Amino acid sequence: MDAKIGVLALQGNVSEHIDAFLLALERMGHGSSSEVFEVRSPADLTDCHAFAIPGGESTTISRLIDKNGLYEPIRSFNGGIFATCAGMVLLANTVDDPRIHPLGLIEMAVDRNAFGRQRESFEADLAVEGLQGDPFHAVFIRAPVVTSVGTGVRVLARVDQGIVALEHGKHVAFSFHPELGDDTRLHERFLQKLGITRQKK
Ligand code: GLN
Repeated sequence: MDAKIGVLALQGNVSEHIDAFLLALERMGHGSSSEVFEVRSPADLTDCHAFAIPGGESTTISRLIDKNGLYEPIRSFNGGIFATCAGMVLLANTVDDPRIHPLGLIEMAVDRNAFGRQRESFEADLAVEGLQGDPFHAVFIRAPVVTSVGTGVRVLARVDQGIVALEHGKHVAFSFHPELGDDTRLHERFLQKLGITRQKK
């Protein structure tokens, strides 16, 4: 299957997500048959198999989702969602900041700036459940953590402060930024679960 992947392009690190998905697809042998493009309107979401919600400023992205009429279309999107950092905040059903209008697509509670000002960014090698090979080198930038999850949510990685990677059905959410660096294992795993398989060369 040729993949059509949309990246929410309202604010935040959009181009890094596009590049990471293009690299993952190339490594999976998809070359030019698949597409990765920016999503700004409901029409852009039609026909996407997968949709990424990038990191950035979750309050701003939340406001722009509402303003662009994307709230309900994202809620009823039936492909897989790959959410990082601010994206993770937006997918939750409970967020510790009333300015956010959470999408409620994953039953989880999120603490928006869990690491506080003292520790704005850091890197850690994480054991991610089900990921083959070396630990994943994770970059955290003003990262959220998940403080509780509902049934059906599979926790993939934790740090002392809480859960930092999880999956629920077709969706995955990360506190850190798998789109930075060139390790595409998490992207490839996400795509494979959606039926976008490695092509024979
Ligand atoms: N904690 C930030 C927020 O909620 C997200 C930071 C990020 O995406 N790098 O807006």
